Amino acid sequence: MERLLTIAPSLSTLPGDDVRQILWRFTDRYDIQMVAQSARTVARTSVAKLVAEGGRNTHEWTQGKANLLRAYDEAGITAAFMEPGEGGYLEGPKNLLLALVAFELAWVDAGAATGCLAGNLALAPIRERGTDEQRMRYLALAVPPAPGEPRTVYRGAFALTEPIPFVGVDTGVLGGSVKVASWEPGEEPMLQVSKRGRFITNMGFANFVTAAVDSADPRFKGSCMIILEKGDPGIWDRGTPTRKMVHQLSSTSDPVLDLRVPASRIVGGYSVVDGVIVPTFSHGEVIEAVFRRTRVTVGVMTAAKLLSAVEPVIRYQRGRFRGGDAAKPNSPRFEQGLQQKEDTLQRLIDVWAGGEAAASMGFSAARLFDTLEPLEKEKDAFLKEQGKTQGREKMKALDGARARALELLALGAHAEDTALGERRGTLEKDPLVRFVLLDSLANVVCPAVKLWNTGFGANLMREAVSLMGGYGITEDCPGFLGHKWMDAQLEATYEGPEAVQRRQLSVTMTNEVFLAQLRGFGRDLRQIASTRPGTGACTVATALEMWRWTLSYLQRSKDASGRKLYQGARQGVTFALADALCWLLAARALVLDVVELEEKGKDNAALAETLPGLAAFYTDLCHVLAARAAGEVGRICAELVFGYSQHPAWDEESCRGCFHSDELDALESFIPGIATGARTSPDVIEENAEHPAKAGPCVRLDDKMPFVRLRLKLDGCLTGARLAKDRAAEALTKVVIPEALDYPR
Ligand SMILES: Cc1cc2nc3c(=O)[nH]c(=O)nc-3n(C[C@H](O)[C@H](O)[C@H](O)COP(=O)(O)OP(=O)(O)OC[C@H]3O[C@@H](n4cnc5c(N)ncnc54)[C@H](O)[C@@H]3O)c2cc1C
Repeated sequence: MERLLTIAPSLSTLPGDDVRQILWRFTDRYDIQMVAQSARTVARTSVAKLVAEGGRNTHEWTQGKANLLRAYDEAGITAAFMEPGEGGYLEGPKNLLLALVAFELAWVDAGAATGCLAGNLALAPIRERGTDEQRMRYLALAVPPAPGEPRTVYRGAFALTEPIPFVGVDTGVLGGSVKVASWEPGEEPMLQVSKRGRFITNMGFANFVTAAVDSADPRFKGSCMIILEKGDPGIWDRGTPTRKMVHQLSSTSDPVLDLRVPASRIVGGYSVVDGVIVPTFSHGEVIEAVFRRTRVTVGVMTAAKLLSAVEPVIRYQRGRFRGGDAAKPNSPRFEQGLQQKEDTLQRLIDVWAGGEAAASMGFSAARLFDTLEPLEKEKDAFLKEQGKTQGREKMKALDGARARALELLALGAHAEDTALGERRGTLEKDPLVRFVLLDSLANVVCPAVKLWNTGFGANLMREAVSLMGGYGITEDCPGFLGHKWMDAQLEATYEGPEAVQRRQLSVTMTNEVFLAQLRGFGRDLRQIASTRPGTGACTVATALEMWRWTLSYLQRSKDASGRKLYQGARQGVTFALADALCWLLAARALVLDVVELEEKGKDNAALAETLPGLAAFYTDLCHVLAARAAGEVGRICAELVFGYSQHPAWDEESCRGCFHSDELDALESFIPGIATGARTSPDVIEENAEHPAKAGPCVRLDDKMPFVRLRLKLDGCLTGARLAKDRAAEALTKVVIPEALDYPR
């Protein structure tokens, strides 16, 4: 009988803008597309040329680097941060827009991206917490002047970090000080502000600084952020440039500032209570509002590097043996080069999958903040309307909203009923409920993006570099991959190193509103897995169940010496679990984007021919990442669940390994249960968690039994993951790439 041959759809070319716009949901945003295009042009011309000419070989602020600032101004990137009323040209939230600008610039050089966006970081305290007057003045002055307009553009620096032993990870130990210099009756107080900075970006040219300082005067209460200008009386010493090994296209130095300024420069203003100046916001409140958004952009930079590595590595691999006598044209060695070797392909697939997941998570976080921003304003207006203006009243109202948010999430499954449906409708319209739901997610995804994209991203960048052999660690490496590897480490460090993100996650990820939503994520992933098993969504869902079970177990368990496991000081537990969660969120983000590509790609005529191949390839990438995520989650959770009991001595009589033999035998009976899914859901497991403890020298599984079931189930969920990797790797040998990179080197 003749066999029917079907040719599997394959990736024909590298994904272009039409694919990215669907994945990251800005197909209909022409305004954003235009700005991203402008950023790309600057990146692949001015920035790439400067890097190729050795612009990174000095940490001094040079004319070549300064010219980039003008290029950003002319391309409209600088003014993209401002609202039309402030001199900008785009209205509304700009998180996705700025993330795309960062992505385009970091595709070539992240120092250029940082130099461009650090000005926004200096303005962000004013944008987020400044008074109306401060916003109007500084945001407008930071808009580049129109041609012929006699005005110097304001460029800012954000100064939080101080020389050792002061501010670093711990932002509370401020050495910078503020005192009352003079205060005439009926007049505005004048303040003496003293701030030494360490590693301050943009300081080589900034003409204003937003600085964090603490009171050194009984007439000034607490800390604040304050705006300092170059013309203020006193010392404005930019300091010596930092001898950086990374991001050399940005300017960094350790300034010394000692200036006299009016109290109206306190970000957010102040009031006078019993003769004491009381800032409206402490420096902590301001930086919290700022980093919440800007850290997402940093995470997107590392994603850009990973994705930018794909094309140069493929080109290098294919051309590796061409030119000599050893490989004749049309021979496999000539045509495929290093791509004949499975490992080179599979490692590149790991880099690609990691880059896609990082971008998916980063851009979805940026979009989330775009949605949250107006909601935050709606919430504030609603509370004001209700007369709830005091801190305690607001907190109480939000507590109530949290309870209603949980009610709404619980209603999800029963919404068919009319009465419940009506209640659901009411809750969905409640502005406080909508805010609380999104806010609890934002509090997790922002540190997750910063932590996973930059931390794991830096490790993956090393893999990309290694695929270029010795070339990878030279300045001549196509795509500047060696630079990008080192640069990724700075992205993991500034705006709070990984410890800061893990610390934040260890608190926010236990919020019950977040956890209830996470449960819903699991259900949604199972739904996706029922029609798209190739995405690995099932694997992610099971790993998610395992993570939830582990958190709940750790929260109620103690170690061998009776110490509570899940507590702030126990970073060995909380930080590890935070890392595991990031893997899950990254994998989920990629699954959702791939579903979007498959669904929306059909509406795009330009993709008609290539979509089947693209969708198949992305589905395989997704599966590869899902399997890796599941592996990480399984490893971390197993270490935490088992690692805090004493290891018994080996006893041949009663043990096999560390488990009691009757428990091991009992495990076999779980296997049929594993297949059904329902029996292993954490909730069912928790209910049935009681297993009588038996005496003996072995580790008793006891209440860990449900974990073992989940672990077995998770292993089974890896079915097909390596086939997906094989297929994706094979696609790399066929995909058509351009003749040369579209920027120098
Ligand atoms: C090129 C560059 C540009 C920069 N730009 C700016 C800028 O524009 N403005 C600005 O204000 N700052 C800037 N920074 C500073 C940067 O944000 C800090 O370096 C960073 O926040 C870490 O502070 P630190 O170096 O003092 O590290 P430390 O506080 O000394 O921490 C070192 C390490 O110790 C561990 N650690 C510390 N505390 C804890 C903890 N509580 N729990 C667990 N582990 C912990 C972590 O592993 C951490 O990475 C820049 C830095 C560089 C290198």
